[in-house]
Amino acid sequence: MATQKVGGEVDAYCTRCKLTLAHTILAMVGTKIARVRCNTCNGDHAYRGAPGATDRPTSSSSSGSTPRASRSSSSGTTKAEKIIISFEEQLAGKDVANAPRYSPKDTYAVDQVLQHPTFGVGFVTAVRGDKFDITFRTDTKTLVHGRGGAPTEKPAFSPPVRQATGPADKPQTAAADAPAEDAPVSEG
Ligand SMILES: [Zn+2]
Repeated sequence: MATQKVGGEVDAYCTRCKLTLAHTILAMVGTKIARVRCNTCNGDHAYRGAPGATDRPTSSSSSGSTPRASRSSSSGTTKAEKIIISFEEQLAGKDVANAPRYSPKDTYAVDQVLQHPTFGVGFVTAVRGDKFDITFRTDTKTLVHGRGGAPTEKPAFSPPVRQATGPADKPQTAAADAPAEDAPVSEG
């Protein structure tokens, strides 16, 4: 396909001639043509692609020229398949049949195979304290483990710090009924 550039020719709809005619490209924004000059009437105007794309003129006079719309976007990369194959390959040497169901109370080691109720079969790739990374077919997750005998963890609670309102250096205005921004937070 021919790459369009400033100074080149392009078929565009001329707003004056009301026809799709050869135009000279005057300006481009990225790969898109921004401004063109009609080779017939020499008029500058914004580039307009195929006729009738947006504001179709009411009197559609067919000029007989077919708009060139050969769009060949080849985005046929299949890298998702490769991940699946490698996942299967990595899983192949592991004891999938005896893979235990994941439980945060158990403790797992690297290369351990697990069954997760949501993500399916996965294998542990890294262990960091009470967390571990596990690779599933579709995703890599970080899960917790080793929570078996631990007592119920209390969430760290920090009492809300009361914002000390300074001395009344802010004069009270007459607009008293404004919505109070610093309404007292109800601690329930
Ligand atoms: Zn023209």
